[in-house]
Amino acid sequence: SVRPLVAGNWKMNGSRSALKELSAMAEGYDAGLKAKVDLMICPPAPLVFLAAAAAIGTRIAIGGQDCHTEASGAFTGEVSAEMLADSGAGAVIVGHSERRQYFKESDALVAAKAAAAIRAGLAAIVCVGETREEREAGKALSVVGRQVARSVPEDATPETIIVAYEPVWAIGTGLTPTAADVAEVHALIRKKLVSRHGKQAAGIRILYGGSVKPANAKELMAVENVDGALVGGASLKAADFLAIAAAY
Ligand code: 13P
Repeated sequence: SVRPLVAGNWKMNGSRSALKELSAMAEGYDAGLKAKVDLMICPPAPLVFLAAAAAIGTRIAIGGQDCHTEASGAFTGEVSAEMLADSGAGAVIVGHSERRQYFKESDALVAAKAAAAIRAGLAAIVCVGETREEREAGKALSVVGRQVARSVPEDATPETIIVAYEPVWAIGTGLTPTAADVAEVHALIRKKLVSRHGKQAAGIRILYGGSVKPANAKELMAVENVDGALVGGASLKAADFLAIAAAY
């Protein structure tokens, strides 16, 4: 079976002083947890280098939250996958719904960013998920299926790609889909991955994200084809984040 990953997306939160939470996470990441689950924290770009330095020897991976498609060049304000790798990151989130919504990122751009991450030696956490309107219209599966087909690059492997299913209406709202709804979407994602990328895609981790808290982690993480969590708000505090990881 697939080794689960609990990843924290700090979004545009945190400062150098927040790195004490990372240290507390490292302290609480004991042998029992290490035997069962991988941990990752994705801080804002200015903190990636410091977080990666602080995480050396802890087995907590550090990731970015976005990257540009090019390795370098005249793209003021942007950060490349190569720069994240050079700063000590091992992964990068691409196509988060906040990027898709507020920065108008298309599936094609997300796929190009994922390819850039792989080029730089990073794993790409490719995010997908339907809006509330799409779910109410009965379109959740078709929307997510299309996003997976168009946002995951051709050469995806369990080492290079992680998929995160994050229903937009569940992010930051305290709402979560039922276990049955999560199972349905994750099964569809698995089917799409295996049909396009072959049998090895059974090893690609599919994370659930959207209002994951210590109180609901056990139920969500027990769902078939849920290989971990992408955690927003509850990843900012070591106690909550470790409690979620302890669901395994
Ligand atoms: P919350 O856990 O705060 O709902 O955020 C989920 C998310 O968007 C993680 O990427």
